[in-house]
Order: sequence, then C-alpha cells, then structure tokens
Amino acid sequence: MMNKPKSYGYTLIYFRGRGYTMSSFESYVQDYIVKSNLSTQLTEIPKVDLEDFLLENHILEQSAMLKLKQQYYCVQPYISTNINPIVLSNEAKILCVNSLILPINMTEDTLEIVMADPFMLHEVELLRLITARKVICKVGLKCWIRANLNAIILEEQYNNEEFSEKEGLTLEESEGHMKATIRSIIVRAIYAQASDIHIEPRSSKVVIRFRVDGKLKIISELPNCLELINCVKIFAKMDITERKIPQDGYFAFKNEEKKYDLRVSTMPNVHGEKIVIRLRSSEDTNISLEELGMAKEHFRLIQYLLNLKEGMVIVTGPTGSGKSTTLVSVLNVLKNSDVNIVTIEDPVETLVDGITQVAVNEKQGLDFENSLRAALRQDIDILMIGEMRDKVTADIATRAALTGHSIWTTLHTENSVGALFRLSDMGVDKVMIKETVKGVISQRLLRKLCISCNGAGCDKCAGAGYKGRIGIFEILIPHIHLKGASYDNMHKVATDNGLITLKQQAQKLVSSGITSYEEVYRVLGNLEHISEKVDI
Ligand SMILES: [Zn+2]
Repeated sequence: MMNKPKSYGYTLIYFRGRGYTMSSFESYVQDYIVKSNLSTQLTEIPKVDLEDFLLENHILEQSAMLKLKQQYYCVQPYISTNINPIVLSNEAKILCVNSLILPINMTEDTLEIVMADPFMLHEVELLRLITARKVICKVGLKCWIRANLNAIILEEQYNNEEFSEKEGLTLEESEGHMKATIRSIIVRAIYAQASDIHIEPRSSKVVIRFRVDGKLKIISELPNCLELINCVKIFAKMDITERKIPQDGYFAFKNEEKKYDLRVSTMPNVHGEKIVIRLRSSEDTNISLEELGMAKEHFRLIQYLLNLKEGMVIVTGPTGSGKSTTLVSVLNVLKNSDVNIVTIEDPVETLVDGITQVAVNEKQGLDFENSLRAALRQDIDILMIGEMRDKVTADIATRAALTGHSIWTTLHTENSVGALFRLSDMGVDKVMIKETVKGVISQRLLRKLCISCNGAGCDKCAGAGYKGRIGIFEILIPHIHLKGASYDNMHKVATDNGLITLKQQAQKLVSSGITSYEEVYRVLGNLEHISEKVDI
C-alpha cells in the first residue's frame, strides 16, 4: 500500500520503521526472496515478524522456511510432531516461553530443545545452568514452537488447582480441552507480563494477541471455534446465549501463589465476539505512587491532595495513560478504617479491599447519575467517580465536593489546565470550578529503553528496544499555580509559578537515558506543539 515498491526487498526495509534492526537471518531470507523472484506475491506490508508473515501469506512454504533456517544456522531441524510435555522449573519455563524455545526431550544429563533462533547462545547457556544438563539444540519454525509451548505449560496446569473456587466459579471437575487452552493462554500472558489478552475471531481463525508494554503482538492463532469464546464467557460468568450485546465479567486466577483479577469484556462483530481480558495481579493493584514514577518534587503536592477533606481532584490523560492505576494507588493510601470510601465505575477495573465499589449498570437502571445520588446518601467521606462524562455528573460531583466530600475523578484531557477548560465546556460554572477543583494530575506512560541494549533491540526486549514503562506526571494545584491567573493565561501563569509540566518531566527522562525522544514524540507529540495547544 502507499507507494508502489520497486522490489520486495526494498519494501521490507522501508516499512520496518525507525529503530528496528533486521536480524541477519531476516536479511538472509530477504536475499533469498529477491533472488528467487518471489516478489510478485507480496500483497501486504509486513507489520509482523518476517518469518510469520512469509508463512501466513504463503510466500514461503513451511518446509522451505525450515530448510532456509537449517542452512543459515547449520543446525538440524526438528520435524517430528510427537511432543511429550516436560516438567521444568519455573525459571526454565519463563526462559523458554520468552525466548521461543521448546524443550522436547530430557534425560539424566541432556536437554534437547528446538529453537526459533539457535544463535541465542546466552539463553542456551542459561538453560544449561538452570537445568544442569547439556543442551542439544535443533531449529524449528516460530509458529510451530509457539503452538507447542502451550503443551509444556498445559501439563502443569493439569496438576495444579489454578482457578480459585472461592470466587464463586462454577467449574466442573472435568478438564475440557478448551479450559486447558484458556489457562495456558493466561499463564503465557502472565509470563510475558502482558496487561491485556485479545481473543479475536477472524474469518477462518481466532487470533490471540497480548499487550506488552503498551503494544499488541500476535501470540498464537487457533482454529475458529465458538467453544473457546463460550468457555471464557462461562469463566467470566456471562450469559453464553447472548451474542449480540457486549458483556462484562470477571474471574480470578491463581498462578504460583499469586492471585490475578481478570476483567473480561466482549464485543460482538462480524466474525463473532471479540474478547479482551485485562490482567491485573493483586500485587499490581498495590503499586505505590513512587513505583508509578512520581518524582520527588511531586510528593509534597500529592500529599497535600491526599490530606484534603473536601474538594475535587481530577486525574487526566488519554485512554491507556495509567489513570486507573493512579486512582487505585491513591485509594490504597486513603483507605482506612475511619473513612467511608465509595467508588462508582463503569466497569469496576480493579477490586480494592476495604472500600465499596459500585459498577454502573445502565441496563438495570443503575446509571452514573443514580449511583452518584445514592452514594451521596450513604454518609461518604471519599468518592471516586470513574469518569465525569456529562454536565449532570459533573454538577453532582462539584456540588458534593463543596459539601464536605473529597472527590477523585478522571477526565480525558491533554494536560492539567485542559481539565479546567473541559469542565467549563461541560457547562460547570467557572466560580464553582474555582471553588472545588483542588488539584489536577495529568499523566502519561512512556516506554523505558531496554537496559540490555539501550534501544537497539535485543532478545531481552524482543527486538522492541524498550522494556517496562514509567509514568510522567503534571500536578496542578490551582491555589498555588494559578494565583492571579485569568481564564486566558492559565498555562503561562502556572509554569511561571513552578508547575512541572509533562514536557519537562519527559525531557528529564530523555536526558537521563531512561526513554528516547522518539518515545516522547509518540506519546506527547511534538513538544513545542503541546505547549502551544494549552494556551487556547
Ligand atoms: Zn533490548
């Protein structure tokens, strides 16, 4: 698409994008394709892995690809389809899953493995140390290894009580194939440190993708079957006969003593129902504000906001900027036996012990407005409102903030000052805004440069150049930062009064090598542009 490429090879290099270095095997395959004149078969720009792309689009057959791998790596290919699951230590398992290594045979002193990339010598050495065995390496196709990795993890699931029965899960004793498949997908997501699992029915298959460090990647493909989707819906206590309406549900999952909350949502579409599972460990829900990436200079401000007995604090940022994580961290600080905390959410994303969480359910007449009014009759101290979406909600919230309640809520705005404009646009009285809004926390998540390769791309970061994320924050306290400001010059006055902006924090992270300018650009856009946008 875009401009017609001159040759296949040219297209590949051109579209791999910034920061991506092609592995030498990929260059080898590419040379082969150019030489063999297979270029006419290219119909799509490869966004995924080159090997997967060529196989999926039948530009190369599996046997041809395997032969190329054998020639390039000078390692015997593994062709048998007979896989016996091997019991491995947790450490070895994580290594295998993350490095696409499939153990196929283990004796007293040897471990036989199939690798997608046998040049990953470091991983081989690690496996040798972990298993205390000589490692014999063969080469295999990525898709085949991925498909069979399920099996080694699966084996363990059969032996363990993975699902928490306490959560009211009605699971039959028999272990159906579907249940095992779903378990193995969840376990793989946990090992990959994924935040979300996407199960997407397409025309002839179901594609499983994980979101890792904010980016989606394809993990495996399964034959299209209704049972898989139904099974997830049963786990999440949804109505399986209902396929035309989006549904929400939860279930709990236990893996190696760690408990996970899984929030499931369905979205009917032309190929069936797409399922997204949001994965949170109970530990994740206890992230401290320091761990979120708040700078020291922010603590004084956040402390002030946490101690407020009345008024409104707004957390802003686009979807996926970590607003809910911040709110949960705040709730964990605020929750205390002597205060009554109620949250109104749509849907409840993370369960927090010791507070009352209300899930809005419009179908049953429990909308935001009703929930808010009901909550305010319940002698509350702190109220968290998932999102203020309209004038009615905003009015009730601001009024509550004026009458002895501490209100925490979110808005979708670009920066902290933008939240004040948004409230005003929603029709909330300016005087009311001035009286009630005690603080605005604007935030974003930036990917951190991989510490092993500094952004060049390595096995540790799966070639992405980034691993892990860090939050950047802008905390606006109107009575400090907006002293003497008029409606039109708020942003300038705020920075003059010492507001640390998202841009400043991002620049600091770039200078100290924690993230890259490209990443800041991806998340914040042109930095100059941002500062202009604010002064409406
Ligand atoms: Zn790396």
